[in-house]
Amino acid sequence: MKVLVLNCGSSSLKYQLIDMNNEEVLCKGLVERIGIEGSILKHEKPGLEGKHIVEEAMNDHKDAIKHVLNAVADAKVGAVKDMKEIDAVGHRIVHGGEKFASSAVLTDEVIKAIEDCSALAPLHNPANLMGVEACQTILPGVVQVGVFDTAFHQTMPEKTFLYGLPHELYTKYGIRRYGFHGTSHMYVTQRAAEMLGKAPEDLKIITCHLGNGASIAAVDHGKCLDTSMGLTPLEGLIMGTRCGDIDPAIIPFIMNKEGLDADGVDKLMNKQSGVYGMTGISSDFRDIEDAAKEGNKLAINALDAYVQRVKKYIGAYAAEMNGVDAIVFTAGLGENGIGMRADICKDMEYLGVSLDAEKNDVRGKDRVISTDDSKVKVLLIPTNEELMIARDTLRLAK
Ligand code: AMP
Repeated sequence: MKVLVLNCGSSSLKYQLIDMNNEEVLCKGLVERIGIEGSILKHEKPGLEGKHIVEEAMNDHKDAIKHVLNAVADAKVGAVKDMKEIDAVGHRIVHGGEKFASSAVLTDEVIKAIEDCSALAPLHNPANLMGVEACQTILPGVVQVGVFDTAFHQTMPEKTFLYGLPHELYTKYGIRRYGFHGTSHMYVTQRAAEMLGKAPEDLKIITCHLGNGASIAAVDHGKCLDTSMGLTPLEGLIMGTRCGDIDPAIIPFIMNKEGLDADGVDKLMNKQSGVYGMTGISSDFRDIEDAAKEGNKLAINALDAYVQRVKKYIGAYAAEMNGVDAIVFTAGLGENGIGMRADICKDMEYLGVSLDAEKNDVRGKDRVISTDDSKVKVLLIPTNEELMIARDTLRLAK
């Protein structure tokens, strides 16, 4: 069975075609600038030298997906003879609100429920649904499945997800903590248990998804107990361009002082903050690390603050779970930031964490990176959200 995995943004989309018999990626790619001048598709296939590039006007997601399917079924660069070989499509859907605690076949009723969640993710859900609608037209009769970023966190109890706000804001508008990156937290939880030879139900795990967007989750006996992102992906850790946790009183204060409206302050916190805003250098940790090595004080402070926040959440989650068996690092920085992982795990003897410097000297590979006698195991696991989406799609399509 072959599953096409789609991750649609407002002007871009990522795709992978996966053969579920052996979970092999047959081809993958990226379309950018959908509906904007300069639309471009970059397609890759194992064994194919370089990338196959298509530069043609793509006015909407339907246009873009038609080009994707042409590439996927192309005689030279494609991976199937005919697009009829695609048995199912799995879509990443960002917000499933309280309606979806697991993936779902995209029936009209489910699509309506996703539309109802759009107020909570106005930039993401409508874009995700554009991909769904396009596939319904181009691939009629092919099963389509939605896999939600929020679903894994739906096991959070009320004590974790309620804010200290008037209760009617929750009942009227659904203002509560939801959490994101759920597909990634679930994947690394399952993989960590596999690597440790145990069931997720027998472990207390803290999963650190440290990418441009970053979140941490406390996974207690296989279920998410807490996670650092909230109503939106702004809460929690300091990120590439997002501020993470701040005193909420700062918001009216800067609105007054800087003359910003709600959109202005939203942009400031989401796009102009994080390590980018703290340093004025870049949102990419490699650039910040380079500047810190040259003695740039703002870069040193930003990295120190980043590490401090991660340590704080790890301590908090160990306290919430009454202990921790394993800590997992994943996503761009978690998978590649050797020094960052070392700094986070430094001075954690109180918890029983002992990182093995030699084992930690690796990028992007499944590996236990703690010492053999470390009470808490530390693992590096490259995330694979696409595979998780394809697995759920296969399960529901069957
Ligand atoms: P992601 O959002 O998971 O794709 O992660 C992207 C982020 O990972 C980038 O913005 C970088 O800050 C970080 N990153 C990627 N490679 C490295 C590296 N070799 N060292 C440090 N950070 C890295």
